[in-house]
Amino acid sequence: MQSRNSSRAVGRPPEADLVDGRVVASYGQRLVVEDSAGQRHPAFVARRGLRLVCGDRVRWLAEDKAGDRAVVERLPRRSELTRPDSRGRGEVLAANITQLVVVCAPSPEPDPFIIDRYLAAAEVMDVAAAIVCNKADLPDAVAAGLLAEFAALGYPVLPASATTGSGLEALRACLAGHCSILVGQSGVGKSSLLNALVPDAELATAGISRATGEGRHRTTATTLHALPGGGELLDSPGVRDFAPALDDPRLAALGFREIVTAAGECRFANCRHMREPGCAVKAAVECGAIAPRRYESYRRLLRLTEDLQRRG
Ligand code: GDP
Ligand code: ZN
Repeated sequence: MQSRNSSRAVGRPPEADLVDGRVVASYGQRLVVEDSAGQRHPAFVARRGLRLVCGDRVRWLAEDKAGDRAVVERLPRRSELTRPDSRGRGEVLAANITQLVVVCAPSPEPDPFIIDRYLAAAEVMDVAAAIVCNKADLPDAVAAGLLAEFAALGYPVLPASATTGSGLEALRACLAGHCSILVGQSGVGKSSLLNALVPDAELATAGISRATGEGRHRTTATTLHALPGGGELLDSPGVRDFAPALDDPRLAALGFREIVTAAGECRFANCRHMREPGCAVKAAVECGAIAPRRYESYRRLLRLTEDLQRRG
């Protein structure tokens, strides 16, 4: 997981020849870009080595052939959503997301460690995070204790139902002004929520497939949808189920905001909060200021990251 990468464009054409835009769908060299007026156009990557993903802010040549936009430059990324590829290296799935929305539901039963890991990914990416408890129409709501724990840490917790539409107004307000992505365990209702929030989501995706000449079988491409109430929502099964991977074990502690706060008082600046003397994090766990479950979650993420680093 990285954040704030810079552009690698070289030898750029004169400023006056370039138009600003946004990648709203990407299929390798084929793209769909949106101009500043919100119009979407087919486009292609016109520079060797220029890697673009959904959400990238780009510039293309104003004078382009046959209405096809020649994208020549990528602007610096505010954030990168990555997942380990088959060889364990980070693959960038989307750029410039500003909010990660973790969806949970009474069924499938929430795994608090998975929720913690998504929240940790948001912290490390330095983007906002919120929790949506979908399927609020079901009688057995998500354990209130678990949600209170996240709310106490300052995360917005929003009950909602994609089926009945309850809570969607509050969710729309939370999404307005952000470029968000819904993440969470399979079956919690991410697609259902997306379809409830973006009425023409499937149509938009089909239109993009036509515009780029990709067949309808390419349903896994990431698409950026404009929300009617403001903000943007990213849709891709691959992105929704991404596994937060950290390059460095030291990043694990950054994923837990209460640990970050307590760590300022640790005796050693490089304290891992495991067995070091004078550890303020362990002291906070012992006196109940940090939930033991969250501390255990931190230890699991630390161990996992160390294992990955040893193997990589
Ligand atoms: P995803 O895997 O997270 O994208 O989940 P889906 O959107 O595919 O939904 C999984 C199942 O949950 C489907 O059978 C949906 O109909 C159902 N579902 C989604 N939202 C709700 C809801 O608010 N209430 C109820 N009762 N079921 C829902
Ligand atoms: Zn410590």
